[in-house]
Amino acid sequence: MTLLLLSLALAGEPPPITDRLLPYEDARVQLTVEYLQAHRTAPLSGEAERDTRMEPKVIVLHWTAGPSAASAWNTFTAPTLAGRAELLGAGALNVGAHFLVDRDGSITRLFEEDRIVRHVIGLNHLAIGVENVGGGERWPLTAAQVQANAALVRWLAGRHPITHLIGHHEYRSLEGHPYFEEKDPSYRTTKPDPGAAFMTEVRALVTDLGLQGD
Ligand SMILES: [Zn+2]
Repeated sequence: MTLLLLSLALAGEPPPITDRLLPYEDARVQLTVEYLQAHRTAPLSGEAERDTRMEPKVIVLHWTAGPSAASAWNTFTAPTLAGRAELLGAGALNVGAHFLVDRDGSITRLFEEDRIVRHVIGLNHLAIGVENVGGGERWPLTAAQVQANAALVRWLAGRHPITHLIGHHEYRSLEGHPYFEEKDPSYRTTKPDPGAAFMTEVRALVTDLGLQGD
């Protein structure tokens, strides 16, 4: 798996992706519209289907801080956020990510890439989220995850007008950029994921793409 992923990361071949799409049902559409109304500075069109789709321009890498893909899956399944007091005040829409990368580098797609998903303050309306299972000192991200993320970034950059690749811990570097939209100047969180070392390793495999963000 590792050698295969490394060659894909460098060659630009599509990495193996398993589709296991979560429902983007009426409740999620409605909660997403409410979230966007509360947070986006640009006006919405009023058509929910259109307002919950996007043209991806940024890729944000994350870690789940949990040990298993199953626990991440369970966290992301419901449309409504549970038990995250620091986030609930900013909206009831659940957090999620478009892709989940397991510790062996296997990639699962959870949402269509042009659907808006809540995973990063200020950028959800144009950012694809990639969650990596594990993280921190307990479950350091793996070499297979580095290679899978690089292969995924390369593939996504060929499918969408991606200009930026950032780690979640770097998102505030885009404050002031036209991409960044957040009505509430006090709504900011400090994130450790996925860490500078991981971003350096992923970026080293995709330097030729010329993505900004570091
Ligand atoms: Zn994150």
